[in-house]
Amino acid sequence: MNSWAQVAIPPVAIRFSFPELNLFDTALKSVHTIAKKDKYRIYVCGITPYDATHLGHANTYLAFDLINRYLKAMGSEVLFVQNITDIDDPLLERANRDGIDWRDLATSQIDLFRSDMVALHILPPDHYIGAVEAMPLVIDAITSLESAGTVYQVKSDYYFKVRSDSDFGRRSHLSESQMLEIFSQRGGDPQREGKQDPLDALLWLAQRPNEPGWESRYGVGRPGWHIECCAIALGYLDIDPRDNTSIDIQGGGSDLIFPHHEMSAAQGKAINGKEFAASYIHAGMIGLDGEKMSKSKGNLVFVSKLLHEGVDPMAIRIALMSHHYRQDHMWQESDLTAAQEFLSNLQIALSRMEVAPTDGVIDQIISALSQDIDTPRALKSIQSWIIETNKGGSGGKPGELSRAIDALLGIAI
Ligand code: ZN
Repeated sequence: MNSWAQVAIPPVAIRFSFPELNLFDTALKSVHTIAKKDKYRIYVCGITPYDATHLGHANTYLAFDLINRYLKAMGSEVLFVQNITDIDDPLLERANRDGIDWRDLATSQIDLFRSDMVALHILPPDHYIGAVEAMPLVIDAITSLESAGTVYQVKSDYYFKVRSDSDFGRRSHLSESQMLEIFSQRGGDPQREGKQDPLDALLWLAQRPNEPGWESRYGVGRPGWHIECCAIALGYLDIDPRDNTSIDIQGGGSDLIFPHHEMSAAQGKAINGKEFAASYIHAGMIGLDGEKMSKSKGNLVFVSKLLHEGVDPMAIRIALMSHHYRQDHMWQESDLTAAQEFLSNLQIALSRMEVAPTDGVIDQIISALSQDIDTPRALKSIQSWIIETNKGGSGGKPGELSRAIDALLGIAI
């Protein structure tokens, strides 16, 4: 699958130093330091293409864009992989409801997602992989799980034994009853007769009437969602056998912590014999009018709609960055208005001949980002600089600040 257009990253002047990045890790339940490496491997779960791109999606991809930008600015290489779940129950249900072919629905939503990402200045993944194109990889991953003795059959479908991973549940910190409840809310089938454990994860679903299917040694069918991500991550992230974990960062929205990321991690560990990811990083949820923004509630605010109304995509970026990426929050018009005003003031300040000193504010932006991507603090530092500039401050280098803001925060002026 084609990724989207490359986004240029201007250089940050080399005299600025970058401390190691600290991020809150869901599995550790604390902020920890991402050890300096020459190359990082990041996997971020992509969309199911039937409802792209609402602000919850935008918040997640923005968070990992900022992490990607910071690690690159440190001088490291980042291999970034993202999937598209272009075959899954919700996609088929929506296509069926709307009387259109599931492939046409997926294609139109993927195109829309790409154009939203370009507008929001999100760095494209190095590999942007659909489940359909990854089918041979996914089937191989199931075969590896079978060789490890972790697969069994229920009628014509195949399941993964989650308890084969002694660490199962460690990453999401949920009680057994919480796991069962969430599993059942998020597409799991704990009640299915014949399962060895109610939480066991579907690996291969035999073809159902009027549904697509792919040939495999497990019969004609389609893969489960968790093995799809696990297989794409392991297949495209250039795994280094010397590393203690398969990948460095597994990322996504906090609604993926369980079951999706726990299951993918357990499967990844069964395949490679080592922990799947060194860090499990999650972005918060965006709500509207007191409720989580979700497809089922129908209270989605779409990026494309805002853009169509003439909203500057950089203002959407700033409005989202005015909250910490992990903080669940309600989307408010007032955040967008404030962001538009901030953007306009920044543009005016940066266009002045004389500006307040800029080294301090660039250092502050770097420092704020290094502390768990603290964008509200970074924006406050810029706001203070705008005030100093408007008061007649001088001695700064506006071009240098403009390039640093673009490189690190993705705000292109
Ligand atoms: Zn995923």
